[in-house]
Order: sequence, then C-alpha cells, then structure tokens
Amino acid sequence: MVRFGPAGNDIKFYADGNQSSVDAPRWLAGMGLNAYEISFGRGIRMTDKTAQVIGAQAATHGVKISVHAPYYINLANTENLEKNYHYIKRSLELLAIMGGNRLVVHTGCQMQMTREVALANCRQSLQIVLQRLKDDGFNDYWLCLETMGKYTQIGNLDEICDLCALDPQHLMPTVDLGHMNCLAQGNMNLEHVFKQLEKFPQVHFHVSFIEYGIKGEIRHLTLADKQYGFDLEVVMQLLHKRPGDDVVISESDSIMAQDSVKLRDFYLQQN
Ligand SMILES: [Zn+2]
Repeated sequence: MVRFGPAGNDIKFYADGNQSSVDAPRWLAGMGLNAYEISFGRGIRMTDKTAQVIGAQAATHGVKISVHAPYYINLANTENLEKNYHYIKRSLELLAIMGGNRLVVHTGCQMQMTREVALANCRQSLQIVLQRLKDDGFNDYWLCLETMGKYTQIGNLDEICDLCALDPQHLMPTVDLGHMNCLAQGNMNLEHVFKQLEKFPQVHFHVSFIEYGIKGEIRHLTLADKQYGFDLEVVMQLLHKRPGDDVVISESDSIMAQDSVKLRDFYLQQN
C-alpha cells in the first residue's frame, strides 16, 4: 500500500480549530490520509509523553508517522560525529514511541572539502552510526537518506543509492523529486529515476514543486505553481509499477495536507 500525507501542519489544520500535532492523526484520517511526517529539523523538543499521545492517536487512526531528523546533522563533518549520533539516536527513540520506523536524514554537505572527501567521510560516519545503533539495541528502524536540492549538499540520487547499499536492512533513499528537479534544472528524467529505484523494495518519497536557481533549490511552492513543476501523471504511473510499501510525503508550502489529497487522488486516477 502506498501511503500519502503531509510534512508538518497545513494552514487548514489550524483554521479548523486544531492547535497541536497530537490532533493531526485524527484530522488527517478525516481527509483520507494515512502518513504524517513530523519535523525535528530545527531541534528535538518533543517529550516522551507527547510522543506517546501522538503514537496512540496515530495507531487509532491508522496514520503512519515518520520523522525528519535535525537539518544540522552533517555526516561529512567527522569532528561532530558524537553529536550527530546523539541527534539520530534521540530522533529514533521518539519515532519508535510514535510507532514509526522511518527517519529522514540529510546526509551532509561538502563545506570546504572535495566531493570525494566529503562522500568518504559520510560513508565512514554512516558505518559507525549503524554499528553504534546496533550496539545500543536498535533494530526496527530505517535511516532514509534524502536526495538534496543544492549542488553543495550530499547527495544526488547516484550518491544516495550508493550510500544506501552499505546496509539494505536499515538504509533506504528518501527520493525528493522536487530537489532532484532543482539539480536537473527542470529536466529530471523520471523513467531514469524510477529505474534506479528498482533495487529498493521500499522508498520514502517527498513530492513537491520547488523553485530553483543556479545553486539549486530556492523555495517550496504548491502543486498549483506549475512553473517549476514536473509531470505528476508520469510519477504516479511509475509509482503504480513499484512493489509496494512506499510513502509519499507532500512538503508543499502551507497547504501540504490539501496537496497530499491531490497527490493521492492523482495516484488513484492513474490506476
Ligand atoms: Zn529534508
């Protein structure tokens, strides 16, 4: 089953009188959505208690939770490995309490390093993180390494697929089609992308339209802003051909849940 849902809370969620993410699973289920991505991008401030309440709500309403790890994680920076490990571990703990197992991670950025050195550092850091998670008793989890939208960030789809091959039991790509369209300056080849994904039985998708410039990603738009868009009809046809448990998250600006409904309907129409 392909699941659909938003990253974060839609303006309509608040307009409908909701205030807290604990109300989101019920509200999303009411719209026929069944996935919800919670962002720890700017920091991990959730308590275990809140995670328990969200987890119970998610279970009741059949909504699968995923979490986005802090943006400041950079596995290319080996000096910060201890801190980065802590952020990943704490994110996974809260995610598990909420009944989910997919943690979206930005692998890193190049900084002053060559691409080769940055990638080698990411690879080495990832191996250490995976080993330490194992030592700390984590088993049922996925680190979903995201394809990024700026040229200075790690990584593009080739790099992410390569890194995910390090551990097919615990690493899968977060395929952010909007980001990839930024890197391709609007010329993303969807058939080629999905061809590369064939070796992954499960994939996490971010699907939104994103404005780009010469350095790549500029800002997230909505599905109504077609100028920087790509062919959703083709995306949904290719998605139908995949084996199964994919998740499609909308990161549209402000109306991410309403756009999730559009994506889901579009998917169903292509069947
Ligand atoms: Zn991201």
